[in-house]
Amino acid sequence: MALNKYQTVNVLFTFTVILVCNFAQPGLSAPNIVIVGAGIGGSSCAYYLHQWIPQANITILEADDRIASSVDGGNSLLPKALINASKADVMLNSLVTSVTKDPGGYVVTYNKPSPQQLLADVVILAAPLEWTDIAFRNFPEDPASKQPRRTWTYWYVHYVSAKSLNNAYFNQPQNWNQPQDILTTSNASTTWATIQFITNNNGLNIYKLFCFQNITSTINKYFLGVKTVHVKYWKYTFPELMPIQKDSQFQDIELDDNLFNINTMESVASAMEGSVISGRNVAMIVKEKWP
Ligand SMILES: Cc1cc2nc3c(=O)[nH]c(=O)nc-3n(C[C@H](O)[C@H](O)[C@H](O)COP(=O)(O)OP(=O)(O)OC[C@H]3O[C@@H](n4cnc5c(N)ncnc54)[C@H](O)[C@@H]3O)c2cc1C
Repeated sequence: MALNKYQTVNVLFTFTVILVCNFAQPGLSAPNIVIVGAGIGGSSCAYYLHQWIPQANITILEADDRIASSVDGGNSLLPKALINASKADVMLNSLVTSVTKDPGGYVVTYNKPSPQQLLADVVILAAPLEWTDIAFRNFPEDPASKQPRRTWTYWYVHYVSAKSLNNAYFNQPQNWNQPQDILTTSNASTTWATIQFITNNNGLNIYKLFCFQNITSTINKYFLGVKTVHVKYWKYTFPELMPIQKDSQFQDIELDDNLFNINTMESVASAMEGSVISGRNVAMIVKEKWP
């Protein structure tokens, strides 16, 4: 179909506007996005960003030497799959130390192990603000220090392979039908908070225990036929979930124009599902700003 003179001018004008917009505001067409933390929050956000802003350059800076530290084949499978699908550039052993506001966006400084810097249009924090230890510079007001601080619980997570629970310790008869989960209250005198049956492997039961201290030396009190014990210390596990009366008791999701805080969701429900939703919500906000 041939275009008349008016339509031709119109099409040329439209193309020119698109080109000028793209070259005049390169940030709007292909934003540089830095995500701090390769846990489930950061990885889900990267995944959705790639779906919705495929031209975005996404870099994930992770302090640890691997993605979402967990038992091999365990919960880390999901963040790994999300990151693979996101095509993000993941930099391990990269501890972010500061975010500086800059006329062009943000300068993110990280140690790998010597200090290095990345320029970002958007910075997404996907780790608890209380533990990232990031300095925020050049902001009119420190975006982190004005956020409510949460109290976090530490735990020693034990994985035990054993024949069974020790009925005698639990004051139970020999024919006790052993439960899947044993829970205590926070004021209990036990050294453990929960004991969970996970699976049976080659005739041995595998249990997971959340404990307030390393109880390896007394493990035979609780189990019979112990074969192995693995302990991992988590310096932060869950924030204490207190009844919240007003919104201001939650940390903000938007800390600055293009600085986001995914982990605030942990105050609502500390679970991977919540982190995925929060990562997705932040990606949605970024998408609206960078169409
Ligand atoms: C022992 C344990 C068991 C759990 N079990 C379950 C379960 O079975 N099911 C479930 O749904 N949820 C479970 N959870 C909760 C779930 O793990 C959390 O809800 C989720 O991990 C929070 O995700 P996140 O990405 O916000 O933070 P995190 O998983 O904490 O990830 C944050 C990442 O940021 C990195 N980081 C921190 N500071 C910096 C920095 N300055 N620079 C660069 N990187 C940094 C950290 O190394 C970390 O990898 C468990 C949690 C724990 C601790």
